Amino acid sequence: MASTVGIPIICNAAVAWEAGKPLVIEKVEVAPPKAMEVRVKIKYTSLCHTDLYFWEAKDQTPLFPRIFGHEAAGIVESVGEGVTELKEGDHVLPVFTGECKECVHCKSEESNMCDLLRINTDRGVMLSDGRSRFTAKGTPINHFLGTSTFSEYTVVHVGSLAKLDQSAPLDKVCILSCGISTGLGATLNVAKPKKGSTVAIFGLGAVGLGAAEGARIAGASRIIGVDFNPNRFEGARKFGINEFLNPKDYDKPIQEVIAEKTNGGVDRSVECTGNVDAMISAFECVHDGWGVAVLVGVPSKDAKFVTKPINLLNERTLKGTFFGNYKPRSDLPSVVDMYMRKELELEKFITHRVTFSEINKAFDLMVKGEGLRCIISMDD
Ligand code: NAD
Ligand code: ZN
Repeated sequence: MASTVGIPIICNAAVAWEAGKPLVIEKVEVAPPKAMEVRVKIKYTSLCHTDLYFWEAKDQTPLFPRIFGHEAAGIVESVGEGVTELKEGDHVLPVFTGECKECVHCKSEESNMCDLLRINTDRGVMLSDGRSRFTAKGTPINHFLGTSTFSEYTVVHVGSLAKLDQSAPLDKVCILSCGISTGLGATLNVAKPKKGSTVAIFGLGAVGLGAAEGARIAGASRIIGVDFNPNRFEGARKFGINEFLNPKDYDKPIQEVIAEKTNGGVDRSVECTGNVDAMISAFECVHDGWGVAVLVGVPSKDAKFVTKPINLLNERTLKGTFFGNYKPRSDLPSVVDMYMRKELELEKFITHRVTFSEINKAFDLMVKGEGLRCIISMDD
């Protein structure tokens, strides 16, 4: 095949022309990568709740037309000037929050909130020149989270790509580029339950079940799942969740129910719903003296977290995290290794598969709350 290096590529992409309207497969022109950028051939992508939230655009300034998608795996097609760590043929995971390796956050052991490449939901262009690399029907198309993986080819800043072991199966590890690593890291890196602990997980979607998987790996003795949707309960058993609570079944706040069932509260809780009432319950259900609650869900813009200060004085800790505190380039390869060593199970998160031309089916499934992750294969 003739080399495509340095020239635009014409390929298929699923374009969101308007909020909430089905995506349309269009021929798009993808410009070559500029300095510190990489053009990636996407092999598999999946849909995460954050795509749905910005596609529906109910609560924010809409930015359309746009190419969504941020949970994916692909192969480097070509690299721009100054890129030395990646070359054509390398396998990569694009990540919505990057790692420049030079700013104070990247240099701090405690943070993954890179100054240059941290999550930015309002930017639809590349950092270097403030322009898009996608054109369809003569119109520039906005990027999403610096990844835009609902396209056969995309352009990503090198700092937002984690290099993979070439033997890792791309159709499985693609889900590590967002939701599962977020939940897993929220438990292992932030909540840090000790062996034998009790852990409550609020929200049993893919992120919450990733958090449950972290609790199982850490050796928690009791994992309590809390969700409004009872259909989630049966599937959640595979993730080591052995007790279920539906807040709708009780007259009193669910934090009080949990405190009664656990002799004063759980050791750790991880909130993965995006609902502020669940966030407050997740904090108030941890044991005084040592309990730690971690917030992961993305709340609506105007939500306010209200609790009595005495709950904190009584030695409970409240934390929050993006991407489970993993630094994407430095830490994701070790998460992929956990899967390759069979410590982490990914297959049970994958409940559906569709071809790229059927991408709107993946949206329908998520809107209906059916299944966990739907893998979209780019090779129809
Ligand atoms: P999902 O919709 O598949 O699952 C959320 C679950 O929460 C659903 O089963 C729902 O029934 C349940 N729920 C909602 N409100 C509840 C309440 N008040 N009490 C109990 N259960 C409730 O979503 P997902 O893909 O698993 O994502 C979960 C959240 O994590 C979303 O808010 C998403 O935007 C966020 N997220 C955050 C990060 C991060 O880095 N912090 C990364 C990815 C996703
Ligand atoms: Zn940085």
